[in-house]
Amino acid sequence: MQPPLIVGNWKMYKTASEGREFIRDFLKLHTSQSPVDVVIAPPFTALQALHDALQSSSISLAAQNVFCEHEGAFTGEISPPMLRDLGCTSVILGHSERRQHFGEDNDLINRKVHSALSHQLRPILCVGELLEEREAGQTNAVIKKQLLGGLKDVSAEHMVQVTIAYEPVWAIGTGKAATVDQATEVHSLIGAILESTWETKREAIRILYGGSVNPDNADILFQSPQINGALVGKACLNPDSFVKIIGSAHRSLN
Ligand code: PEP
Repeated sequence: MQPPLIVGNWKMYKTASEGREFIRDFLKLHTSQSPVDVVIAPPFTALQALHDALQSSSISLAAQNVFCEHEGAFTGEISPPMLRDLGCTSVILGHSERRQHFGEDNDLINRKVHSALSHQLRPILCVGELLEEREAGQTNAVIKKQLLGGLKDVSAEHMVQVTIAYEPVWAIGTGKAATVDQATEVHSLIGAILESTWETKREAIRILYGGSVNPDNADILFQSPQINGALVGKACLNPDSFVKIIGSAHRSLN
């Protein structure tokens, strides 16, 4: 069984200096002996500052996006080798904000997944349904399509490098997290799809829940054995609440 994983997605918040300040405060509160895997995904512009600030810690660095080519005339894009060079070990892909505001579809996300994997960057693939899709009873179909599309032609060998984040779009940034039952149901579906399509053992892949996770609901969510950690937005911007969520994941091991 892998340890729980908590990923903090800073979105487009914090300059490099603010990032350094955050890490200084966070490391004062975070127990270095924690068995929980912790990853922070700052904006690109703060990656170098965080790489330096996290040198002697066990916290890993992720990017919030990556382009699918390794170099070339792609103005404004960032390649997997550039992220590796800044110490990133994983990358968030398919976040609903990228799908919604930047028109990313399953096809492009799939190309990014392959590119990341071929450069030893672990993809954290986000999937999740809109409120209208849930209300229309389409949740399972949407999740299946996003999973199979995003992970198309990924080998079984590479699958164990992938983390899935179930992020119902209606729960992101709304303060209305999914209930533990709602999340557990979709996590079970994701596990079953991964097992049947890639013959990957469920325990080999962590499935995170994301969407308004905070220190008040984390304990309950992590009680579900199907929920192997969290992708946290708003609540990871404050060192104190981020540390509390990591603490909940730690307690869930007892
Ligand atoms: C996210 O951005 O992935 C997220 C889950 O945000 P929040 O925790 O703020 O809902």
